[in-house]
Amino acid sequence: MSGGRTTKPCPGCGKVDRFRKPDEVCRDCKEALVEAARYRKLAQERTAAGEAYVRYGAAVHWNKTVHVHGVDTDPVNLALFDLAQAVVVRSEWQGKNSQLLLGEYHYDVRWVYGNCPVPVAEAIIRLHKTLQPLLDATYNAGVLRGADLLRRLNAGELSPVEFAEAKEKCRK
Ligand SMILES: [Zn+2]
Repeated sequence: MSGGRTTKPCPGCGKVDRFRKPDEVCRDCKEALVEAARYRKLAQERTAAGEAYVRYGAAVHWNKTVHVHGVDTDPVNLALFDLAQAVVVRSEWQGKNSQLLLGEYHYDVRWVYGNCPVPVAEAIIRLHKTLQPLLDATYNAGVLRGADLLRRLNAGELSPVEFAEAKEKCRK
């Protein structure tokens, strides 16, 4: 190969790097490849050592699977996201067979890939799955209690003042 240079766009990123050799990618892409190889090695080593290989959505809203009608669960979703970020050693390597730590399939999800100890991954997955039915049950219990208060008000078992007091209590 001649030591020539090319002004054609880099096949990796499309940028023109006038120092690029015709049979190579640009310096930025070379660095990115080295970095990717390092991430892959890190993920493979940790997975081989028995750690879980996991992924979760790269932003809170891609992990927003905990929801209850009429209740703001943003803090719950943010807490789960922060937890994932705190325990997962990111690899950025999109290997096969990653476990879904948080999130759900959606066409535009960007995933974070990484490793964490198996018991930690299992605990987060269990926590995530447990929260939804718990929040649903809490919401449904509130609806039933409200319906019961209305029935008692209507039946004259509850004065309008008592009804207002009971309602006020629910705000706290
Ligand atoms: Zn490039």
